[in-house]
Amino acid sequence: MERLADRSPELTQVLQVFDADWYAQNTEPLVFSERESKDSLAEKGRAMLQLYVESTNGTKPVAVEQPVRARPGRSRDRRSPRRAAARIIDLVEEGETLVDLKTAGRTLESGGLERHLQLSTYALAFFLLHGSIPKLRLDMLLKTAKPRLERHPTTRSLEDLGWTARLIREVALAIQTEHFFPNPSWRCTECEYFAHCQQWRGTWPSEQLIAIGDGEGVGEIAGA
Ligand code: SF4
Repeated sequence: MERLADRSPELTQVLQVFDADWYAQNTEPLVFSERESKDSLAEKGRAMLQLYVESTNGTKPVAVEQPVRARPGRSRDRRSPRRAAARIIDLVEEGETLVDLKTAGRTLESGGLERHLQLSTYALAFFLLHGSIPKLRLDMLLKTAKPRLERHPTTRSLEDLGWTARLIREVALAIQTEHFFPNPSWRCTECEYFAHCQQWRGTWPSEQLIAIGDGEGVGEIAGA
């Protein structure tokens, strides 16, 4: 937002904000891995920020955080969710390119750029807004021993966007019909649905689990 307003902060200002945030995060006891410490991570964070600030080199984005409202599916499709999905594109538009910035411990796996669902969703939103498929770029700020910034340009085809739209529609339908599938990850520790999610676990009596082991179909069990 600051860069958009032509107020690109100096590196010293950025590091001051980081230092204050890092201090605040550490007022509660944090658990570090054996190879990391409060000081080593602070040093890594500062190095990564320095790299990022220097790489942006004062460039001004065209837009950031664009709100998008889109109906996932054809409007006459009776199975389409009635309420349009609202979403914020939290990435930066540089010229004709949508850029998403991620921090990561390692570089992309093979095919990871083509499968990157967030980029596909952004491309779909852009297409719905402007009627054209944007160029895309995934910037990865890597937390390697010596931090580095990788830039991966890519794009999507119309077919890719159709696939993404259908996926979004099916997920929205699943949510509307209260189908819930936990997807445990590191995010669970901060998830506001954690308590509900924990209750979902183990709702099948043990005899039903044993029945699965005996080869009965899931459909039979679900209908039991
Ligand atoms: S706790 Fe939250 S993030 Fe984790 S699986 Fe459940 S809903 Fe998903």
